[in-house]
Amino acid sequence: MRPEILFRLFAPVTSLTGVGPRIAKLIERVAGPHIVDLCWHLPSGLIDRRFAPKIIDAPAGTVATMTVHVDQHLPARTKRLPYKVICSDETGTMSLVFFHGHADYLRKSLPEGEMRVVSGRVERFGEEIQMPHPDHIGTVDELAKLQSVEPVYPLTQGLSLKVLSKAIQGALKQLPDLPEWNDPAFLRQQKWPDWKTAVLSVHAPEGEKDLLPEAIARRRLAYDELLANQLALALVRAHMRRLPGRAIEGDKHLQNNVLSALPFTLTEAQSTAIGEILADMASTSRMHRLLQGDVGSGKTIVALMAMLNAVETGAQAAMLAPTEILAHQHYDNIAALAEPAGVRVALLTGRGRGKERQAILDQLADGTIQIAVGTHALFQEGVEFDDLALAVIDEQHRFGVHQRMLLAGKGKAVDVLVTTATPIPRSLMLTAYGDMEVSRLLEKPAGRQPIDTRALPLDRLNEVVAGVQRALAGGARVYWVCPLVEESEKIDLAAAEDRAVQLRGLFGDKVGLVHGRMKGADKDKVMADFASGAVSVLVATTVIEVGVDVPEATVMVIEHAERFGLAQLHQLRGRIGRGTGRSTCLLLYGPHLTETAHARLKILRETDDGFRIAEEDLRLRGAGELLGTRQSGLPEFRIATLSAHGELLATARDDTKLILERDPDLDGERGKALRVLLYLFERDAAVRFLRSG
Ligand code: ADP
Ligand code: MG
Repeated sequence: MRPEILFRLFAPVTSLTGVGPRIAKLIERVAGPHIVDLCWHLPSGLIDRRFAPKIIDAPAGTVATMTVHVDQHLPARTKRLPYKVICSDETGTMSLVFFHGHADYLRKSLPEGEMRVVSGRVERFGEEIQMPHPDHIGTVDELAKLQSVEPVYPLTQGLSLKVLSKAIQGALKQLPDLPEWNDPAFLRQQKWPDWKTAVLSVHAPEGEKDLLPEAIARRRLAYDELLANQLALALVRAHMRRLPGRAIEGDKHLQNNVLSALPFTLTEAQSTAIGEILADMASTSRMHRLLQGDVGSGKTIVALMAMLNAVETGAQAAMLAPTEILAHQHYDNIAALAEPAGVRVALLTGRGRGKERQAILDQLADGTIQIAVGTHALFQEGVEFDDLALAVIDEQHRFGVHQRMLLAGKGKAVDVLVTTATPIPRSLMLTAYGDMEVSRLLEKPAGRQPIDTRALPLDRLNEVVAGVQRALAGGARVYWVCPLVEESEKIDLAAAEDRAVQLRGLFGDKVGLVHGRMKGADKDKVMADFASGAVSVLVATTVIEVGVDVPEATVMVIEHAERFGLAQLHQLRGRIGRGTGRSTCLLLYGPHLTETAHARLKILRETDDGFRIAEEDLRLRGAGELLGTRQSGLPEFRIATLSAHGELLATARDDTKLILERDPDLDGERGKALRVLLYLFERDAAVRFLRSG
């Protein structure tokens, strides 16, 4: 239950005066539905009204707050002309200009013959000094109040700064005094204010430097947010560890059998990862491990060793893939390696029907099938395992934590191994997978050829086609990727279809097309034809993004490369350069390249180190965008910016460790304050894992 002290902050914004349902909707769009969301809606700029010049000294274009004598009203003679109010001081005159001004209101707020303070942007119209639509009008004794620095907030269509600022000021009046959750010595050392002072201060910037992520109040709040994130993840992890596990320790006969049949030896990184995984499985607590390795780093064989370890003890293993193409491919690879050793492997996707499917379900239930590879169909109702001990989840960012749990629920105390090719920078690792142990394959198998990457404008398509023709004559296989933008899937599909038709005109029936809207069986057929060489140019939308392994493919053309994210381009490019032949990647870009797009293509030309690319990507974009926040389950931060607050994240992680060592159930005084922090940042679920949550 949320503590009472936070109730006001989680009241709907409609409980603020001046915020009705219409405004609330707009506020919800920019900030969120609750009062607390307004507190986290930080200023993006400011208007400095402290400048108070005489009329003659007010430069055009600046915001000024001036004390003037109201000389005369000049009402508009026609609707299209402005209403003017002439004012003066001892140095000159200035016109206040109002289009569609209401005479009553103007006469009341600017009475002729009196002194008034006006604040707004000064402009010059010919010889005339003007202030069109002053932002504020007040009496002389309000000068000090009007000579303020006003925060400027990100807005949305229909929501004015005035209305939003008023709502935020209202929200700030609701701030409770919260117990301090940070270590007092640490606070002193950082010179951070308490929470309430920090919130008030981020909303009252006095200069540009107060808007920077390094500003003291912002850092304090960013730290609070990161601490809540780390603490929540650590609590989930501690909960996982407490779940009873089982010791799975095979006799290695299957693993050795498969290893000895491989045409290569494992890299050191692979051996280390296998060692870590087997140790987790052998322990009696539950495995919850992430295997991270760039495309082509050889994760499949590592996962297979883990699965064989389970099978050796008489249990079953399952591997979950995000797409049917991938499930198919994993099945082919794994069956080819494991079946000669006598292991029964089956494929289960949403596609199979009737008797065949029933046979697979029966054999999963009675344990005849030892390894099941499949899509989400694996965790659907009606799928029962005899004794599932290990779930391998490939390409985790397509699945949520929830699905992980569902598959794990198919067995008793199932160990979970997640594999991902997303080269998540260390800084993000903590926030995305802080609940998991991590094995990384940093080294790629030996003998890989570097990929020659070039960027070309799309209008040199003819040269590209000629190059592809030469490559095909030399026996190459070519991926040709057309971008798919979700908003207009149809149009993009049409573009891919057109391209396929055009290339068929040049290269004949060696050209295949694969896209996301195709039926599964048709997709498989095209992919199989490409793998066998029956098709040598594969025109594709981004369905080929993950995991596809055709070592003979050595050329990749990506149209409108500027529309893809860096990480995505890197994943795509990872489809080539897998065999012994030299590979070429051609990034074709459209006109009007933005600076960021330019920078992206440059990075790709310079490096194929997935981790460096990910760091650069993080620098060029926000963290959420990097992984696709919703898909990754990566928390989106309200205040913290990982590129600016990365070192705070590391501190928050260390702090979390200490906190939970001393007070694992957050029962002490600081512990109780930390519970408030968790609720404040809406990590309610984590609190439930506490014994007395
Ligand atoms: P990914 O990490 O992208 O899933 P895969 O497991 O599909 O990579 O491996 C990519 C390719 O590298 C496969 O063809 C695989 O057989 C091969 N491979 C894996 N490990 C090694 C190794 N140690 N030496 C040489 N080739 C390897
Ligand atoms: Mg893979």
